Amino acid sequence: MAAVRGWQGTLLILFIVGASKANEGFFWHITDHHYDTTYWSEMRSCNDEVPVRGIYGDYWCDSPWRLVNDSINAMADIKKNVDFIMWTGDTVAHIKDKYLNESFNLEIMKVVTDALKAAFPGVKVYATMGNHDWYPSDQFPVISHSLYNATADLWEDWIGDAEQMANFRKGAFYTIKTPQGLRIIALNTNLYYTSDKLTTDLTDPAGQFAWLEKVLKKAKGDGEKVLISAHIPPGVHVPGNVQWLAKNFNTRFIDLLRQYTDIIAAMYFGHDHADGFKLLHKNGRTPGVPMFMAPSITPWRYKIPGKSGDSHNPAIRLVKYNRDSGMPLDIHQYYMDLTESNKNNASNWTIAYKTSEAFGLSDLSADSLNGVIKKMETDKSLLDKYIMYNTVLANGETTVNGCNQKCRAIFLCGFTHMEKPSFDSCVDSRVGAAAEICSSPIAFIALALLYLLM
Ligand SMILES: [Zn+2]
Ligand SMILES: [Zn+2]
Repeated sequence: MAAVRGWQGTLLILFIVGASKANEGFFWHITDHHYDTTYWSEMRSCNDEVPVRGIYGDYWCDSPWRLVNDSINAMADIKKNVDFIMWTGDTVAHIKDKYLNESFNLEIMKVVTDALKAAFPGVKVYATMGNHDWYPSDQFPVISHSLYNATADLWEDWIGDAEQMANFRKGAFYTIKTPQGLRIIALNTNLYYTSDKLTTDLTDPAGQFAWLEKVLKKAKGDGEKVLISAHIPPGVHVPGNVQWLAKNFNTRFIDLLRQYTDIIAAMYFGHDHADGFKLLHKNGRTPGVPMFMAPSITPWRYKIPGKSGDSHNPAIRLVKYNRDSGMPLDIHQYYMDLTESNKNNASNWTIAYKTSEAFGLSDLSADSLNGVIKKMETDKSLLDKYIMYNTVLANGETTVNGCNQKCRAIFLCGFTHMEKPSFDSCVDSRVGAAAEICSSPIAFIALALLYLLM
């Protein structure tokens, strides 16, 4: 390089910078629209009294059409020129089965499909079904079904060839290459959900595990890089503290993924509604694959006896990535402040954060996520930031202030502990260690000094 000086050197540098920039692209990741057609009438998805309904929705309810449509328009306004859109399901609202039927659910998926096609003509959408898209809710079967067929037909322009259409008709999974050459593997993890009573006693529902292994093996042999997308993520949901996938399925899924960490660039999921990421370790606990759970469009809060979930602001996510390696580089998380937008009768989609700025990350590789997770273990303000983003800035400081020692342990352990028993013992040891520190003589002296200083 010493020989390349002056204007030739400058040109070479410009060429290298230009070439690497050319390999960077963007895609949208959107999830969990939960469109409630009854928002202005029976309000069937609403979990509490809503004295005044906002035009863009309410934190207790699923999305009115105005919110769904506005989110798609906002995507097109912010960045229309994307490589593709990843859409991870749950388009139907949280409404009791007695008010739904197969053709109603299909119609809901169709109106959002049509809106995406109209706003992004010619852009490929890699769509997966969510547990609420099925009728009856969650009960995905392992036999051919009219709803698998109808959804495959609905998404035929995006799924493409006959073999993949056949896979979708079998169990709503398929694989496809992006125009830029990355392999997308779109899975139906709803088959592994604890609420799916049709798959409880099976070892490989719809043969998806065997198929996934075959696809990964071939991709490895062909030197491809893979992006995995699905609705329900493996691991433990935080701060809800629940493992969504049945124990045997969760274990088999992560064991299989661990064998292919060298070719899986990243994994993208929905279902959590909250914003979060995880890191799948290789065998031997070295960083393997980054996993991203995108926050939902719906602001809906759950409510069960004695407990209610956090509010979330509606969110749309733009991902910057390397088109060759598939490596995620940056997340531009946009959101709508629901309270403000309703008050002003005008939507305001704005940036919540960029991972590059908020966490100081130059990329989102497994190693980079490992670094920031390690940092959060000791840097309280960094973990606070992550917790604020978890609800898409819906609750301000209360989210952070309401998160006690155990809640913080849950966040920290959720990053890398993919199975409930190891997650639980991680939480126990963190809480135990904190209790020990607080009752130690050194901590007592430190507290006494602090008291004197104030
Ligand atoms: Zn959902
Ligand atoms: Zn879901």
